[in-house]
Amino acid sequence: MSDDRTCLLNPGPVTLSPRVRQALLRRDLCHREPEFAAMQADVRNRLAEVYENADSHYAAVLLTGSGTAAVEAMVGSLVPRDGKALVIENGVYGERIAEMLRVLDRPHATARFEWTAPIDLAVVERVLETDREITHVVAVHHETTTGRLNDIAGLGQLCRRREIPLLLDAVSSFAGEPLDLAGWNVEACAATANKCLHGVPGICFVLARKSALESGKSAAASLYLDLHRNYREQERGGTLFTPAVQSLYALQEALREFADQGGWEARHHDYCLRSQLVRDALRRLGVEMLLAERDYGATLTSFLLPPNVQFAPLFDRLKADGFVIYPGQHWLSERIFRIAVMGDLSPQDLERFAASFARAIAC
Ligand SMILES: *Cc1c(COP(=O)(O)O)cnc(C)c1O
Repeated sequence: MSDDRTCLLNPGPVTLSPRVRQALLRRDLCHREPEFAAMQADVRNRLAEVYENADSHYAAVLLTGSGTAAVEAMVGSLVPRDGKALVIENGVYGERIAEMLRVLDRPHATARFEWTAPIDLAVVERVLETDREITHVVAVHHETTTGRLNDIAGLGQLCRRREIPLLLDAVSSFAGEPLDLAGWNVEACAATANKCLHGVPGICFVLARKSALESGKSAAASLYLDLHRNYREQERGGTLFTPAVQSLYALQEALREFADQGGWEARHHDYCLRSQLVRDALRRLGVEMLLAERDYGATLTSFLLPPNVQFAPLFDRLKADGFVIYPGQHWLSERIFRIAVMGDLSPQDLERFAASFARAIAC
């Protein structure tokens, strides 16, 4: 393997395509130039068009920051101060949302499930039944902690019946998994440039109902992460503060490439094939998955560390061959490792990974 190619098998940032990397080298640009306004408008439109039927009712608000900034802007701006959010937790990212609401001093309740368990909709229904103060439900679409794709269709139906808006952390699923925004009663979803969209870190965004951005009063307790203020300024072609210009160059190119490659359905299909390749190869080596195979989304698989294999030496051996894998978090850190397949990866890369993995656990 050449020294300059690293395959990132972590869930973002991702291995860049040559085309996206090259976009970082476009000319220097001030964000007050008309060319910036045109690029920003193009990126916002393309984001709203990723899922069919979304573009007429939803608008993208760009922020400079990592995915967490988008999630925090979403819950901070859209859960009213006199409202109450129900946060669904079955992993690190759901728990992080509850932590945000604690920091924001915003009324909230949690529906907590084991990290290895699905969302129990009957439990959620009971909470909504008994706690009539709840105005919003917040959930994680793809729980990157384990790779579980949560049943947001089911949760969305529940919310729809009660007319409770759903706020979604779609950071590791946006553009890589099916997402029925209107059908699932999604008021807004948060995502980032550098996961399934294959851009570079620096830009994140919230795709929200225009009605919520236009008529709703922002509940934001932050100037920087106020979605409504950012939206109004971006609608005028401006930006409130200095954006990550080069990251936006890369995102624009990544979105063009995404469209050229066939959009989210093609990307989803591609991820399914990649994950299947990795799962089959590791299964042949006797490596087991943490969850049942049907519980995973397309983008990431969590595997149990084989007996007598520690994460650190495994990581080092694979890295020496050009592959970066991802550890588990908290109590899973000694038990699992994770393989994400986002980014500019070929089947050959993954075949070489499987061979490298076989050598690494044999020594
Ligand atoms: C990656 C990720 C985030 C955001 O992480 P950042 O490090 O802030 O980009 C949030 N939620 C989920 C589910 C994620 O996978």
